[in-house]
Amino acid sequence: MADFGADKLDAFRAEVGAWLNANYPAELKDPHAKTDPEAIWGGRAFASSDDPQIVWMRRVAEQGWTAPTWPKAYGGGGLSSAEARVLEREIALGGYRAPLVSFGLWMLGPVLLEFANEEQKTEHLPKIARGEIRWCQGYSEPGAGSDLAGLQTRCEDKGDHWLINGQKIWTSYANRADWCFCLVRTDTTKKHEGISFVLIDMATPGVQTRPIKLISGESPFCETFFTDVKIPKENMVGQLNGGWTIAKRLLQYERQNISGGFGGAGGAAGDLGQIARRYVGHDETGALADADLRSRITKNKMDFQAFGLTTARIAAESRASNGPSAATSIIKYAAAAFAQERSELMVEAMGAQGLGWEGDGFSPGEITAARGWLRSKGNSIEGGTSEVNINVVAKRVLGLPDPK
Ligand SMILES: Cc1cc2nc3c(=O)[nH]c(=O)nc-3n(C[C@H](O)[C@H](O)[C@H](O)COP(=O)(O)OP(=O)(O)OC[C@H]3O[C@@H](n4cnc5c(N)ncnc54)[C@H](O)[C@@H]3O)c2cc1C
Repeated sequence: MADFGADKLDAFRAEVGAWLNANYPAELKDPHAKTDPEAIWGGRAFASSDDPQIVWMRRVAEQGWTAPTWPKAYGGGGLSSAEARVLEREIALGGYRAPLVSFGLWMLGPVLLEFANEEQKTEHLPKIARGEIRWCQGYSEPGAGSDLAGLQTRCEDKGDHWLINGQKIWTSYANRADWCFCLVRTDTTKKHEGISFVLIDMATPGVQTRPIKLISGESPFCETFFTDVKIPKENMVGQLNGGWTIAKRLLQYERQNISGGFGGAGGAAGDLGQIARRYVGHDETGALADADLRSRITKNKMDFQAFGLTTARIAAESRASNGPSAATSIIKYAAAAFAQERSELMVEAMGAQGLGWEGDGFSPGEITAARGWLRSKGNSIEGGTSEVNINVVAKRVLGLPDPK
């Protein structure tokens, strides 16, 4: 019997392939094309830009394919999860750049679809899908990281608006974001039940950001200060004091997405085995000369391969069901470990050349490897630390009791 589903998918694959080929900006076909590295994040700063990356983003967004499975009414593509997977693979196999990288797409959008009212969905989702607004995540505070529910940023009801005072920390790209999805305290007498989820325009008077420099030399995140920040009443998502449920759901999407990128940022690009061969040399069979390093690199590559298949399967399952579950903590934990191991192996293979911070004695790839190794230390912290993710697995996946 003919498999009409498979036929339909094949037709869709052909359609997608032809569209991507016809619409990919010619400038981006050159791997050294000059584009603003921030353009891939979109946002107000690029509203009138004709950077080729932005041209690409706009074309894909017009198809609804930046958010393939979202309903068309909210700027999505209305695709089934199988069709979305086809699109994802065609982009990857064709070597096309991602059209848009966005916390709005990965984290906020899915929870808005689940928890927001119609006005909020209509207002925010299309702007996320079109890359018009860049979002940041205001969760962590100086006294509330792993113990996130201990957050203190106050949000008071002032009748016709909310008034926000407090401080967030480690807010990735807060200085470049247009809006922030933020956890605030609306009841000081309760812990988890006193938290609400609000949306804040970063251009509102009283919002201030101060970049923090990382060990890798980059400043990707900030301290964020809210001083008498007034936001409209309609910017609260879900119920007053009902933000903790939304917060946890969003963390599941965050962990799933970090794992989809295999552990988060850090490390250098390229095939680890080939790079190692260039530095360590090879034997007469062409195999890496250092047998111990060879076996550890092979194991890492096999782990990555198996892990990639597992995360793809889990992502497909979650798209086809009720979204991600607490099990995302398992893959977040594993992804961070593999990514850190890969960075370590890269630097080890390069030997002394893997220790370059800057200067003429090191190639750009070597500097990226060294700085990426330092950056990868954050993989087991961002999106919830590895220890905390293990706790989530123990409690919510295995159902183990709290330690006495
Ligand atoms: C690169 C990067 C980007 C980030 N981006 C953002 C962002 O955009 N927005 C945002 O809100 N936050 C962001 N964060 C913050 C991140 O979510 C927190 O750093 C993280 O949740 C840990 O909190 P903390 O730093 O306060 O550490 P702490 O909670 O103080 O933890 C310190 C140590 O104690 C351990 N620990 C704590 N509690 C337990 C426990 N119950 N059981 C076992 N061990 C425990 C931790 O595992 C850790 O090793 C980012 C962090 C990094 C590194």
